[in-house]
Amino acid sequence: MTSINNVTVAGSGVLGSQIAYQCAYRGKQVTVYDINDQAIEKAKSRIAGLESSYTRDLGTSAQNFAEGLSRISYTTDLKTATDDADIVIESVPEKTQIKHDFYVQLSAIAPAKTIFASNSSTLVPSQFMADTGRPAQFLNLHFANEVWKNNTAEIMGSPKTDPKVYDTVVEFAKEIGMLPIKLKKEQPRYILNSILDSYLDAGLTLWAKGVADPHTIDQTWMKATGAPMGPFAVMDHVGLRTEYNIHSVLAKESNNTDLIKAMTMIKSMIDDGHLGVESGEGFYTYPDPLYEQESFLKAD
Ligand code: NAD
Repeated sequence: MTSINNVTVAGSGVLGSQIAYQCAYRGKQVTVYDINDQAIEKAKSRIAGLESSYTRDLGTSAQNFAEGLSRISYTTDLKTATDDADIVIESVPEKTQIKHDFYVQLSAIAPAKTIFASNSSTLVPSQFMADTGRPAQFLNLHFANEVWKNNTAEIMGSPKTDPKVYDTVVEFAKEIGMLPIKLKKEQPRYILNSILDSYLDAGLTLWAKGVADPHTIDQTWMKATGAPMGPFAVMDHVGLRTEYNIHSVLAKESNNTDLIKAMTMIKSMIDDGHLGVESGEGFYTYPDPLYEQESFLKAD
């Protein structure tokens, strides 16, 4: 057993709310921190909404689910959130400046014992280790969407991460039901997103070029490979805000004009309130998206 019992999750959006509940479900005391009451109310409803998934995928009883909920508290005050934290799992938006500001603020108030772990999808710990004031106790712990069943935890330190802290976080990942994936060195986008982002970029590029629409691209992938979703359904699940943050950087880095065009198209969807599964509309409408209907892959 590790000594990590008190877990603070900072940022309670799509992934933060899942991480918070999973930690509580596995017996940790969890504090959810977000920037305002509105975000906290949203987190409470996201977390309550996980019950059907836990019941369906893990056979969790109503009583067990409620016990998990009882171990979570919420606050908009970072000092209160971190007073006795053994670990802070940061899941704030995938924007370098937001993460930078967050770690500067956190480093000034968190207790000396606290380990900081980032759930960033693409950024490496070296980028923020100076902000944290504790490079030896800082690393990335990257979860996948739908953490309760897609339960990988990619663990990636910087050259300055203390190996003992690294090993503790590997054990912690097991305690909260994750399969720890140990990265031997820093790699932007880690293993999962190095593969996933290229796949999503390919779908976005085909769409922006006008080769085919998103549903046709998804149909092709699903029918030809047997995958349960195509790239556009995956993006709806991740959330279009996060996809926009990730792929805009990739588009600029690669100067890929098709990808830049696709980002403009996604930005206008976001501006219209189409955020993916969380808003009930993205490339598909939810619940009961078209790609889950039998007719989607029928030949006639
Ligand atoms: P999101 O936009 O759904 O949620 C972000 C949350 O952070 C919001 O609740 C927002 O109010 C809050 N926030 C903003 N500024 C903050 C601050 N300064 N302090 C605390 N909270 C703040 O984003 P998300 O999809 O949950 O992504 C969060 C992180 O998790 C990103 O780094 C992303 O790359 C990573 N991630 C996302 C997924 C996914 O599938 N969505 C998967 C793995 C990792």
